[in-house]
Amino acid sequence: DMFVKGIALNPNQRIDEKQAKEIARMYGYRVRFEQEQLEDKETSVGESKLEKIEKYFEQLYITKKNELVTRPPVVTVMGHVDHGKTTLLDKIRKTRIAEQEVGGITQSIGAYQVEYAGKKITFIDTPGHELFTEMRAKGVQVTDIVVLVVAADDGVMPQTIEAYNHAKAANVPVIVAINKIDKPNANVEATKQQLVTKLNLIPEDWGGDTIVVPISARTGQGIDQLLEMILLLAEIKEIKCYPKGPARAAIIESKVDRALGPVANAIVKDGILNVGDYIVAGPVYCKVRALIDDKGRRIKSAEPSQPVMIVGFEELPDIRYTIYAVESLELAQEIAQEVKEKLEKEKPSKRKISLEELLKIMEESEKKELNIVLKADTVGSLNAVQNAVLSLKSSVQEIKVNVVHAGVGTINTGDVMLASASDGMVIGFRVKVDSQARKVAESEGVEIRTYEIIYDLIDNLKRALEGMLQPEY
Ligand code: GDP
Repeated sequence: DMFVKGIALNPNQRIDEKQAKEIARMYGYRVRFEQEQLEDKETSVGESKLEKIEKYFEQLYITKKNELVTRPPVVTVMGHVDHGKTTLLDKIRKTRIAEQEVGGITQSIGAYQVEYAGKKITFIDTPGHELFTEMRAKGVQVTDIVVLVVAADDGVMPQTIEAYNHAKAANVPVIVAINKIDKPNANVEATKQQLVTKLNLIPEDWGGDTIVVPISARTGQGIDQLLEMILLLAEIKEIKCYPKGPARAAIIESKVDRALGPVANAIVKDGILNVGDYIVAGPVYCKVRALIDDKGRRIKSAEPSQPVMIVGFEELPDIRYTIYAVESLELAQEIAQEVKEKLEKEKPSKRKISLEELLKIMEESEKKELNIVLKADTVGSLNAVQNAVLSLKSSVQEIKVNVVHAGVGTINTGDVMLASASDGMVIGFRVKVDSQARKVAESEGVEIRTYEIIYDLIDNLKRALEGMLQPEY
């Protein structure tokens, strides 16, 4: 374990895949290891069937550039607990969806779509950053825009900062909704001031470029402006899709429905998803038996950014896989089988590359950053550790140490997901790691280090950085 030892490796020394990944991670890289051709007789062409499909969709964005069209933005609402996320989502849904549209008892399908000024917006209706970061960590960024809710009577709080850090790490643009302006003790100006001092977000009317909209999720005041701003930002960001052909869709949740069996709630990214399509999601495949929209209606097809419940699976699809529609049931089955076999084969690899090769790749990079999620037992110790970590910047040149998030308390899944999303690691000071977080860290390949003594923490970190910069010859 290089980090703990802070050892300097010889540049010609062979290191294993795990070590290579660790080093790459510290430099903000992900290393992908090519399958050795000999090992893989089945796909002698070198490309699996799934990879071909993935490539098809990537290619669309290049070769069919002129045929791309704008699609509705997909929005996630985040913010501190009790600042009004749920109330806002409920209010938007109620006021923007006409009563007669709603067919009977509507159950949530994880997201809903509203119309404003003739344009559609999709809202993920689970507020919070867990799902957001889980989606991002698994490689599919479903969210186009984050609405960061900040209560005007409470201001910027720890989870506001955490939520913002998640959005920032995922490179998703943020609109701030200052909520509860109907309350007598609401202070919009003070809240804006805190956006500046605590988040470094400067509101537009203060000369910055952060869109800030004062709202009341309770009375509905300001919500039209918020929707308008979402559409404006979507236009600026040119959120596009390829609207024709077979669909790909991102799963936002999957569950077993008592009447319908295993279902996936998904948002279509490109193409059109139809009833009767053959789809595959990782090791699971099926023929689409039914599609149900956010108003509980059975529909024949779903278009980009449309949330939809997909019925027909025999097994529960995992949220980490993208759904692809393919031309036949046989092909869907073959791809699922291919993924299954790959999963079974996925044992720790013994393939190695030299550190020299790795350093060379990293040298070509402009940015050398070590992203850290920092957790400590108290606010006082957190400040102390954070200052010490940041002061490393000057002593270890060339590498920028970034504290992506700093918080008090046990290291949890959210911390690990954030570290994974930013290709970083988690450092804990006098805190424990919860068991779920440990499992996720294992599967995401995220390094967690905990320390009891601040000197050890800093010394280890410093030696690791220096060791990697100046390999001994
Ligand atoms: P969440 O934890 O962020 O989802 O917050 P909730 O939506 O559950 O809201 C927390 C509390 O704040 C509830 O009692 C809401 O009724 C109240 N609340 C939310 N928005 C507003 C608002 O705009 N004005 C007022 N006065 N209360 C609000």
